[in-house]
Parts: sequence; C-alpha cells; structure tokens
Amino acid sequence: MILDIDALDDGALLQADICVAGAGAAGIALALQFEGTSTQVLLLESGGERAEAATQALAEGELAPGCRHPPPHRYRPRRLGGATTLWGGRCMPLDPIDFRVRDWVPLSGWPIGPDDLAPYYPAANRLCEAGDFDYAAPQDMPPTLQGFVPGSFTQSAIERFSCPTDFAARYRLRLEAAANIRIVLHATVTEIRTRGQGQNQGRAVAGLGVRSLSGRRMRVRAQDYVLATGGLEIPRLLLASRDAHPNGVGNAHGMVGRTYMCHLAGTLGAVRPAVPVHHGYTLAPEGTYCRRRFALREAAQRRLRSGNMVARLHHPQVTDPSHGSGPLSALRFAAPFITPEYATRLRDGPSGATAIARHAANIAASPLETAGFLLHWLRRRTLAARKFPSIVVRPPGGVYSLDVHAEQVPNLDSRVTLAEGLDALGLPRLRVDWRHLPADIDTVRQGLRALSADFAASGTARLDWDEDGLEAALLCHGAYGGHHIGTARMSADPRHGVVDADCRVHGMANLWIAGSAVFPTSGQANPTLTIVALALRLAARLRAASRPPASALSPGQAPEPAMT
Ligand SMILES: Cc1cc2nc3c(=O)[nH]c(=O)nc-3n(C[C@H](O)[C@H](O)[C@H](O)COP(=O)(O)OP(=O)(O)OC[C@H]3O[C@@H](n4cnc5c(N)ncnc54)[C@H](O)[C@@H]3O)c2cc1C
Repeated sequence: MILDIDALDDGALLQADICVAGAGAAGIALALQFEGTSTQVLLLESGGERAEAATQALAEGELAPGCRHPPPHRYRPRRLGGATTLWGGRCMPLDPIDFRVRDWVPLSGWPIGPDDLAPYYPAANRLCEAGDFDYAAPQDMPPTLQGFVPGSFTQSAIERFSCPTDFAARYRLRLEAAANIRIVLHATVTEIRTRGQGQNQGRAVAGLGVRSLSGRRMRVRAQDYVLATGGLEIPRLLLASRDAHPNGVGNAHGMVGRTYMCHLAGTLGAVRPAVPVHHGYTLAPEGTYCRRRFALREAAQRRLRSGNMVARLHHPQVTDPSHGSGPLSALRFAAPFITPEYATRLRDGPSGATAIARHAANIAASPLETAGFLLHWLRRRTLAARKFPSIVVRPPGGVYSLDVHAEQVPNLDSRVTLAEGLDALGLPRLRVDWRHLPADIDTVRQGLRALSADFAASGTARLDWDEDGLEAALLCHGAYGGHHIGTARMSADPRHGVVDADCRVHGMANLWIAGSAVFPTSGQANPTLTIVALALRLAARLRAASRPPASALSPGQAPEPAMT
C-alpha cells in the first residue's frame, strides 16, 4: 500500500512491527523480504514519486572550507527509489581482502567476513537485475588486451551492469500490492525518540518524529526501527536525536559521522596498445552487459602495502578536441543537457572559441561516425529498457586513457557533523568535511606503476602518466559523487564504530542501520550490490526475531524490545 502523509490525519499514530526510514535500494530491498509475511512493515520516505525542488532542498548542507566534495544535495535524490533513480548500475561484490585486517590500513577489518555475505549476494544481484552472480570472466569473453599476462593485475575479473534498475519503478507494484507493507510518502523522519529507565535510559527507540513540508506530523511505533536514509542522512539523524544522548544516538564514543569515505576516481594517462584491443561491453547469455577490468590482486596489495584499485580502458578526455573524435566532440556540445551528476567531466578543459571550433571540425570530419554514435546512443541507451552502460568510442589515434577507481582508507578526520543552520523541517543541516590522505593517492600511484610494469612485461601496451600531477588529476573533481561510506561503521568493539556485526546500533536494543554507512572500509567496488546484500542479511536477522504482532499493541504503546 502506498500512502501520502498528507492523506493522513495530522498527528496520526502508525504502528508496525518494523519501521524502515528511507525507500532507496536498502530500504526497498529490506521491505521486500517481508512481502506476503505476517510482519507489518512501515516504510517512511521523505520524497514523493518524482523529484521535487522543496524536498530536495532538505538535503542541502555546508561544506568545510576547502572541502573537495560535491554540494551535499547532489547525488542524493530525495524521492522514492533514492539514488537508484540516477545510478549507473555498475555491480560487483567486495573482494575477500576488503574484509580483512590489513596492518598497513588503519582501522581496517570488518567484524564479518566474505562468507557472511556470500549467501545474500546472489539474491542482491537478482534485485539489482545484474544477471548471474558470477564475476569471473567467461572463457569466450575477449580479453581487453590480447596476450596480457597477469602480474600485479589480472584482467579476469568482470563487472556487471544493472539496467540500471530504478528500485521505485521496478518494485512499486509489488510494494503496492503487499497487504503487510505500507509506504508513506513525504514523511521525513526528523527525530529518533528513545526510552528506557535507569541504566537502560535511552537504550531503545520508543518512536520516530515524522513531519512533512505541508506541516503534517505523524508518530510511529514499532518494535524494530531501521535507518536506511543513505550514507549522509543516517549520521545526520543519529547526531540530531539528542533526547537522552547529548551527543546523539549511537555516538557514545564520538564515532557517528567519522571515517567518511567515497572513492578516488579519475581518468588518467595515455595507454598505447601494441596488441588487439577489446574496448567495450559483452552481453552475457542472460542479457546483462559485462566488462573486464584490470584488478589489483590481493598479493600485490600486500606487497605494495596499498589499498584496492581497478582500472579500465577509457576514451580520451572529451573536452580536449585533440582527440580528433566526432562522437566525443558531439558529447562536449551535449553537456548542458546532461544532469549535473554526469556532466562534471564534460565541463572542464578548454572552452574558448578555438576549442569550440576544433570540436566542430571533429564532427564535420566524421559525420557518419558521429551520426552512427548518436543513433546507437538513442536506441541502445535512451530508449532501451536495459541501457548500454557508458560511452564507448574507439579513439582515432588509438591512444586510450585509463579510468581508475580506488579505495579510500578510513580517516577519523574525514567526517560529517551538524551545521548551525536548520532545514525547513527544523532538522540541523549537515556539514561535510570530506578529506583524503596521502595513502589514498599512493594506492593509485603504486597501482599505476604496477600496471605499467605489467603492460611492459607482457609487451601489450605502454602507459604514460604524469606522476607529479597525479594528486591534482585525481582530485580535480573531488570526492567521487554518489558513494557515501563509513559514517556509521560496523565494529565488534563499540569504541571503534557505531553498529555491531548484525548492523544494530551499539547499545540500542531495536535500532538497526542499512546502507553503506556501515562499511568499515570502502574497497574498490561500487557499493550498491553490497548495500543490498547487507540489507537482505539484516532482513533475515529481523525475520528470525520473534515479536508480538503490531495489532496487539495498544495505541501509543510499543513493546519492550529485548537486549540480546
Ligand atoms: C550519479 C550516480 C551514479 C551511481 N552509480 C553507481 C554505480 O554504478 N554502482 C553502484 O554500486 N552505485 C552507484 N551509485 C551509488 C548508489 O546509487 C547508492 O549507493 C545507492 O543507491 C544507495 O542506496 P541507499 O538506499 O543506501 O541510499 P539512498 O539511495 O540515498 O536512499 C535513501 C532514501 O532515504 C530517503 N530519506 C533521506 N532522508 C530521509 C528522512 N529523514 N526520512 C525519510 N526518508 C529519508 C531518501 O529520499 C532516499 O529515498 C551511484 C550514485 C549516483 C548518484
């Protein structure tokens, strides 16, 4: 059932067994696990079914001086489906090394291992519509560089692409039809209210304060509460809820909002292949797009004492007309019509009249190729249900660049806190102080040196890159947009994190977190597949708990949750 808070009485009390705040990938995946069961699920979503400027403004915040992070309201659509209404769909699981304690990576090590997530990844892959859960390149998939011999890197790992699935559009009908799941739109959670007496004061959630921009208020009572409001709104809500906790819920050790990680990414260097190249995607038998990547192996990470990293062949910088490509120059002109989250790399670089004239000349020199590319884009991307994942253009000069995506290591000083100002619902705004460490740049430096050596040893390519300009090149677009990681990290010891291995907030009986906020380290992988796998694991944990039915609760009374 899908309701709007504005259709409810002001001050209405809604009861459920489980209340989930936030209907993005995490919240929707979790709610779907209760479809057709006797568990009553209430899913509260701040946004509506479409983008709305006033609602999106609730996500606005401040950046610390000099902070190279996108404005906080970007990359975080406030609407049913959350960021899946905008995501690129690249899927891959974390690597085993990402879970391990690495003595050269401070604060590394998850309290769970790959085996704990393994049972949930295949179902997560299905929900993301990324095909079979198999991330090894099949024998018949052409190699990126023919004859490449694995050294520090392999090219035998693949990434898979979701449609990209918009969780709201895809799962709306199922959610609407489920008698035991209620979604309330325009319902922004503004406060976590706690209860308990004596020693247990503040150790359980009693209810949530919920408001709408139209002035409606709503109260919620449930046995369990899950925050799935995204990696930046989760710490915001915890920090802003101070009825019994002066520093915020779950923040006894000052860890809420700390170790904020994104990924470091960039398009770097010049790759000159000396062998046949496969640049692009392969369709798996079940119809999903897949691509090989150069992945830094576990043994090499140990030897180099680096973080995790991957690289892929990429077209040259779009904005530099010296690439000589008509399709790329056409993209340069399309930049004003592309959403800001995807146009960042299309807006820098030379922009004067000479550059414009050279782009126009590129198009004029290859009209058929340019028209063919635009037609392909229209058919296979704009109009297709399963979209071609990204631009693939063979550079006229045969010189590619490298697209790198690298782990950021946890840093206590990289953090989000509350700002002075309030949003339209009275919730303190967020202040983002995202930082990087020399170790983050060093991961890419070591990786590029090793990849260059692998290319040379196998005689497959030459990689030229500007080592002195590496940091500037990696940071020219700042933190990698939509990955918000580590702000409520998982830890066995409450002093080092916010949630335990089950994703329950340390010291709280009935408050759980779903999303990349709980990742203790970022790995190199894009986060959503793991977000969904963790949400499914949390759902299994909640399903295993026995609880009295919500209908047995008297109005205004929530059951006493047990501390286990
Ligand atoms: C441009 C872009 C490209 C991306 N590409 C990829 C990719 O290729 N691969 C990948 O793995 N990941 C990618 N991502 C990241 C991916 O989209 C996110 O990791 C994922 O969608 C996060 O899901 P979530 O449910 O944890 O959070 P969100 O999607 O942020 O969902 C949170 C939900 O909570 C709601 N909400 C917020 N505050 C409140 C509140 N107080 N009360 C009630 N509701 C609230 C929001 O409206 C939202 O619907 C990309 C992101 C962007 C922006």
